[in-house]
Amino acid sequence: MTDKLHIIGGGMAGAEAAWQAANMGVPVVIHEMRPKVGTFAHRTGSLAEMVCSNSFRSDDDEQNAVGLLHWEMRAANGLIMQTADKHSLPAGGALAVDRDPFAETVTARLRAHPLVTVEDEEITALPGEGHWIIATGPLTSGALADAIAAETGKEALAFFDAIAPIIHFDSIDLSKAWFQSRYDKGDTEEQRTAYLNCPMDKETYDAFIDALLSADKAEFKPGETAGYFDGCLPIEVMAERGRETLRHGPMKPVGLTNPHQPDVKAHAIVQLRRDNALGTLFNIVGFQTKMKYGAQTEVLRMIPGLEQARFARLGGIHRNTFINSPTLLDGEMRLRSRPNIRFAGQITGVEGYVESAAMGLLAGRLAASEILGRTVAAPPPETATGALVTHITGGAEAKTFQPMNVNFGLFPPVDLKGGRRNRPARYKAYTDRAKLGWQSWLEQFETVEAAQ
Ligand SMILES: Cc1cc2nc3c(=O)[nH]c(=O)nc-3n(C[C@H](O)[C@H](O)[C@H](O)COP(=O)(O)OP(=O)(O)OC[C@H]3O[C@@H](n4cnc5c(N)ncnc54)[C@H](O)[C@@H]3O)c2cc1C
Repeated sequence: MTDKLHIIGGGMAGAEAAWQAANMGVPVVIHEMRPKVGTFAHRTGSLAEMVCSNSFRSDDDEQNAVGLLHWEMRAANGLIMQTADKHSLPAGGALAVDRDPFAETVTARLRAHPLVTVEDEEITALPGEGHWIIATGPLTSGALADAIAAETGKEALAFFDAIAPIIHFDSIDLSKAWFQSRYDKGDTEEQRTAYLNCPMDKETYDAFIDALLSADKAEFKPGETAGYFDGCLPIEVMAERGRETLRHGPMKPVGLTNPHQPDVKAHAIVQLRRDNALGTLFNIVGFQTKMKYGAQTEVLRMIPGLEQARFARLGGIHRNTFINSPTLLDGEMRLRSRPNIRFAGQITGVEGYVESAAMGLLAGRLAASEILGRTVAAPPPETATGALVTHITGGAEAKTFQPMNVNFGLFPPVDLKGGRRNRPARYKAYTDRAKLGWQSWLEQFETVEAAQ
């Protein structure tokens, strides 16, 4: 008899993982704590509940990385996408979803699947034997989080994200910014030039502080505690503590010389650090923020060199349990210290409904293949799913690892020939290449038809 796959958590990732594995002929048990044990954000006992917005974001599979992820999941017979399409609402180019019928349909289809069982129970310890996927999401219950921390080490499990904005390198103005580490520290040229620096004169700094102080900010929800953040205060809170605080913190103008204007001493300097191995993304160092998204882009584009910045993701601080995947997981999403356990969904350090479901889809297929004794390759990094999993399991900087949305900055750059240099052509080249890669990756699976 085929071994069972146990999945802890029946959210976006767990539901998709179960569907994929069961459709490959593997019996699945989903262990879901709701409705017996609730969270501050979920309202129902349904699987795959959307806890906040009802949007799956852009559905454009030619020009947008999240739209491409939709395409890949549809091509893989994904339950989350099939159901989202069935219960979609008009929303322009976005895929908005009627949340209650969506979650009820996902629940009904999984409960009706002959190979899926749902156990209504909270799992409070790390599993021992057998094949497991942990997909307990940003609000993993306390007892299980403690058990994960005991296995991985406390510092490898975070309870909040503190995300500094991340910018596409090719949108930074290098006639104003320059590469240099403070005091030219480092043994190699790469280390001595690890940071990008954006200089500010006094007038720009003053205007920047005024804009920060008056920007629209998001508040913490009741139940999300703010006491955690002394080590990573939002920049606007630092500015509230005094107009000079940032100049003595992340915007210190010391140890750096501007090669564009060597005789001018900057009043403040904003630093950006490489965020992925490809060098296509840079985060603004120490710039975690609770500014609302509209305000953020406006204020951050006041920084010299970032006037035309394109943001791969904006900053934020949220309640969010996630592990340090780059150090803890192998390329097949297995916990290195206990390879019978995989992780999937937001707890791996991806961000969003769609990304979480995609990581569930992948973990479900990989786990089922292992149970069936089949060897499958990881999806190529040129695909959206492959780019995401490559990022979280090794491409991202482990020391500064924070949750990530899918975006083209995670993909190996495309080699554009014949003048296809404008952005729509570049994005189309990314998505064309991804679709071919995903189709050939899927060919190695023989899924049995779903019973419904
Ligand atoms: C307040 C809040 C707002 C958010 N807003 C958005 C948004 O607007 N858009 C967006 O794309 N993303 C949003 N997110 C992120 C969102 O949660 C994820 O994108 C997505 O739901 C993650 O999917 P998942 O399967 O990893 O986790 P979830 O969907 O949360 O599923 C995890 C499941 O595990 C269960 N569980 C937890 N611990 C245990 C346990 N010990 N035993 C058994 N079951 C357990 C939970 O009950 C839950 O059903 C938000 C998150 C939070 C916390």
